[in-house]
Amino acid sequence: MTRKKIAIVTGGAGFLGSHLCDRLLSDGHKVIAVDNLITGNLDNIKHLKHDKNFEFIKHNVSKEFRITGKIDYVLHFASPASPIDYLMLPIQTLKVGSLGTHNTLGLAKLKKARYLLASTSEVYGDPLEHPQKETYWGHVNPIGPRGVYDEAKRFAEAITFAYKRYHKMDNKIVRIFNTYGPRMRMNDGRVVPNFIYQALHHKNITVYGNGKQSRSFCYYSDLIDGIVRLLYSSISGPVNIGNPDEFTMLEFADRVIQYTQAKSKIVFKPLPTDDPKQRRPDISLAKKYLKWTPKVPLAVGLQKTIDWFKSQSI
Ligand code: UDP
Repeated sequence: MTRKKIAIVTGGAGFLGSHLCDRLLSDGHKVIAVDNLITGNLDNIKHLKHDKNFEFIKHNVSKEFRITGKIDYVLHFASPASPIDYLMLPIQTLKVGSLGTHNTLGLAKLKKARYLLASTSEVYGDPLEHPQKETYWGHVNPIGPRGVYDEAKRFAEAITFAYKRYHKMDNKIVRIFNTYGPRMRMNDGRVVPNFIYQALHHKNITVYGNGKQSRSFCYYSDLIDGIVRLLYSSISGPVNIGNPDEFTMLEFADRVIQYTQAKSKIVFKPLPTDDPKQRRPDISLAKKYLKWTPKVPLAVGLQKTIDWFKSQSI
């Protein structure tokens, strides 16, 4: 019998990290989740507590760490990921993208493991090219408040590819576009939990700016599927994974009001500094090399997410 593969998932108690742990376990692997729980939550992995193939280690991956035994995959998903989180945790965000990526690359090198970096559409900044292809170099303000996340991830990409070239490692990069679904933190400040919370409580829906800025929302299950296809593939990327269905924030607010049947009104609040005006992935690479396309339309994914938030009795 062949030995089970062993995967390390940093940020394994987070929104995406925990869903990734579930998927890797159901694919028959052993999983070690590492998380310092500053934005992650043990509730996201409590159902795995008695799974003999799952282990949780509370650790800050920006600090050095050792794991004994074999490791086949290192997936670096640890980072604050919502604008208000990285505004509150700017140094931690920069450290986990830089030192955390360095440490996890070192671990993968030592173990001769395949490495996958969770990067982001934020590397494109406030993009001047639309939709965004992987070849676009981006438009980022390095010293702005969002820059702590954007530049950390840009550094993370640079060092991931430097290790790949210099140490001949098997390193991969996924650029994740806006993703939503169960296990998002209700108070993480992102538009999906904010609007759902406000609608479920019939409070005003807070649209920032004039609401004409756009985002393209991918349901978490589609995203996780794209990520594992990249992990098992022979390509390195970077590969965009996201749903190209694009909405303005005003359109999105209307959808949330419609699906929740809320009595909420839309109110306008100031646009955060450097908020990107438009964002939509070009997913030609993922289609061609990973045979991946998103399957879950917003109507379905949003309803499931609303039902999940309701079940949390918030
Ligand atoms: N946004 C909004 N109201 C909110 C929260 C966010 O209008 O209560 C806007 C935000 O300004 C941005 C978009 O929604 O234009 C997506 O924001 P989010 O924080 O979800 O993610 P981003 O894509 O900016 O990282």
